[in-house]
Amino acid sequence: MIYLDYAATAPVPRAVADAMIEVLTERYGNPSSQYPFGAEMKKRVEDWRRAVAALLDCPAEGLHFTSCGTEGDNWALRAAVWQNRHVGNHIVTTAVEHSAVLECCKWLEREGCEVTYLAPDQNGSLTAEQVLEAVRPDTAAVSVMLVNNELGTVYPVADIARGLAARNPKTLLHTDAVQGLGTFSARALGADFVTVSAHKIGGPKGVGALYIGPRARNPRPLLAGGGQERGLRSGTEATAQIAGFARAAELRLENRERNRAHLEALHAVALEKLLAIPDMVCVGAGTAPHILSVSLAGWPAGNIVNDLGSQGICVSAGSACHQGKPSHVVAALKLPKRVAAGVIRLSFGPGTTEADIDACAQALRRHRDTRMPML
Ligand code: PLP
Repeated sequence: MIYLDYAATAPVPRAVADAMIEVLTERYGNPSSQYPFGAEMKKRVEDWRRAVAALLDCPAEGLHFTSCGTEGDNWALRAAVWQNRHVGNHIVTTAVEHSAVLECCKWLEREGCEVTYLAPDQNGSLTAEQVLEAVRPDTAAVSVMLVNNELGTVYPVADIARGLAARNPKTLLHTDAVQGLGTFSARALGADFVTVSAHKIGGPKGVGALYIGPRARNPRPLLAGGGQERGLRSGTEATAQIAGFARAAELRLENRERNRAHLEALHAVALEKLLAIPDMVCVGAGTAPHILSVSLAGWPAGNIVNDLGSQGICVSAGSACHQGKPSHVVAALKLPKRVAAGVIRLSFGPGTTEADIDACAQALRRHRDTRMPML
C-alpha cells in the first residue's frame, strides 16, 4: 500500500504502541486512586503533559487532555463565548475551518450567537487585516485555524493575536492547530486556546489536548464530575492514550528538523511530478510542507480516489471527514467548475518516500489518459 493521507491520520510507531501497551497491561492504575500504584499514575500523567507541552512550547499547567481535536475545538469556542458573555455574542471565524469549528458555530448560532464567516481568496489565503476588520466591540471570540487541513494554507494566527490586542483586547482567540502540531510555538502564536490532536503525529486516535492560556481565566469546564484535568474536564484520564500521545510528541520533537527537511523535499518533488501531468493544476497557496492540494481539472475527484484506492494508493478528495459530500473548503475558493471537481489532497509523513510519489504520479497520469473527463 502507498499511503499519502497523513493529514487524515498517521501510523503509530512501534515505540508509541509499546508505551501504550505497558500502561494498559502493567501500569493500569487509576490516577485518582490513593495507593501508590494509582498515585504513581498521577505523576506519570503530569510527565506526559510536560512531554506534549514541550512539543507545543506552552506551559504544561495550561495543557488539558481531551478525547480528540473535535472536542478541543468545541470546548474552546464554548468556553470563550461563555467567558465573554458580557462582551457580546459575536464570533469571527473562516469559511474554511474544520467542521469541528463550523458545526459548533452553527450550534452557537442556534443558541443566539452571531457568526461572521470570512471567505478566503481563490488561493485559500486570508490576511490578518481581513480578520481584524471583522472584529467588533461585541466580538467574544475569534477562531482561525493554523494550517488548513485540505489546502495546507498557513494562516497568520500570531499577527491576528497581536492585532486583537489593539482592536478588542477582550476578544479571545482560538486556533485549531491540529494540522500544525510540531511546527509552531504556542507562546509565539499568542492564542488563548490552541487545539491539537495526537493521531496526526503518530499518536493514537482518541486523544488530543487543548491549551488554555492565562487570559482565559476560570474557563468553563467541559465536563463536571470527579475534577480531573484541573477540574475542567472530569473523567478518568485515558492513561494509555495519553502515554502514546506523549511518546509520539517526544519522537516528533527529537526528529523535528529532519522531518521538516524530508517533507519539504517531498513537497517539491510531488509538485514537480504532478504538475507535469496535463490538466493538473495546483490548488491554493499552501505552505505547509506535508499537504499538497492539486486538481486534475475535469476528472471528478471521487473517481480518482476510487481508482487509485483500487491500486492500493491512498489519497483523499477533500477532508476525510467529508467523504461523499462536496468539500466546503473547495466550495469557498469559488474555483471554476472543472477545477473544483478534480481537487485531491496528498499528504505526507515521515514514512513517505519519493517512490511513493512516483507511483502516485504515474497512476494519476494513467487515470487522465484512460478515463473520460466530465462534459
Ligand atoms: N481540526 C482539523 C484541522 C483536522 O484536520 C481535524 C481532523 O482531521 C480535526 C480538527 C479533528 O480532530 P480529531 O480527528 O482528533 O477529532
